[in-house]
Amino acid sequence: MPVKPEWRLVIHGGAGVILRENLSQEMEAAYTAALNEALEAGARVLSSGGEAIDAVEAAVLVMEDNPLFNAGYGAVFTAQARHELDAAIMDGRDRNAGAVAGVMRVKNPIKAARAVMDKSEHVMFAGTGADAFAETQGLDMVDNTHFDTEWRRQALERVLEDRARTAADRHGTVGAVAIDTNGNLAAATTTGGMTAKAAGRVGDTPLIGAATYAENGVCAVSATGHGEYFIRVGVAKTICDRVKLAGEPIAIAAGVALDEVAALGGDGGVIVIDGAGTPAFVFNSAGMYRGVIDASGARVAIYGDE
Ligand code: ASP
Repeated sequence: MPVKPEWRLVIHGGAGVILRENLSQEMEAAYTAALNEALEAGARVLSSGGEAIDAVEAAVLVMEDNPLFNAGYGAVFTAQARHELDAAIMDGRDRNAGAVAGVMRVKNPIKAARAVMDKSEHVMFAGTGADAFAETQGLDMVDNTHFDTEWRRQALERVLEDRARTAADRHGTVGAVAIDTNGNLAAATTTGGMTAKAAGRVGDTPLIGAATYAENGVCAVSATGHGEYFIRVGVAKTICDRVKLAGEPIAIAAGVALDEVAALGGDGGVIVIDGAGTPAFVFNSAGMYRGVIDASGARVAIYGDE
């Protein structure tokens, strides 16, 4: 009798200059709790025999609603002091995918991405058309100020004043990859982008093949980092292609892709899961909020030395 694959969920809450000396014990505890909550939301789906695609959506939804992360409520501000959100989701079974870019009114961009995948004949919607589509699908709509938080506003003011964006001004993108008990893979990524980004700027998050990719039997990837470089390298697809065509283990393939990002001047990280459910966290930034859960329990980490 064939052995059923184990389920497993891997998440990230952004990569960047995340150092112990910069994070208070209270903040560290808050991030740890938030990551665990997201892991448990996805695990509830997977442990009861549910699908990887539903698990990745459930996990990132929790983080979109948590102001600690740069996605949904708590997303960074654009230079015009508004929020333009990007999200993507991909199902490894048939490589069906859905994405939205620059949405301003849908409360949970990942739900809009899922609706694009399930309810439209397209893969990607942008701007006002994407919000309008989400509204026709009955998703919760909010005023753009719903996403406001004081600490992100202060970050905007600092960036505009200093005319410089630190790595800390863009981390916080969230993502998830999973394998379910039928061996299906899925990936989801959602973000507010970069603090003080120009109106209309779209990063790597909603681009299938850049920050998000899933193909059964190969791998699922969700990336976070300096989006322009991740787009130029095509990070997620590069990793999956190296696994598929060159037979590289996921950690090696991810390392090669991130080396390409670094060679161009970018930084960031990825979470990957392969067709057998092996997880990998690979990043070239100081830290990455991350976690994994399976039948044996949950584990979260933040810093580079964990
Ligand atoms: N990749 C995101 C973007 O460029 C930001 C991040 O992941 O930190 O929009």
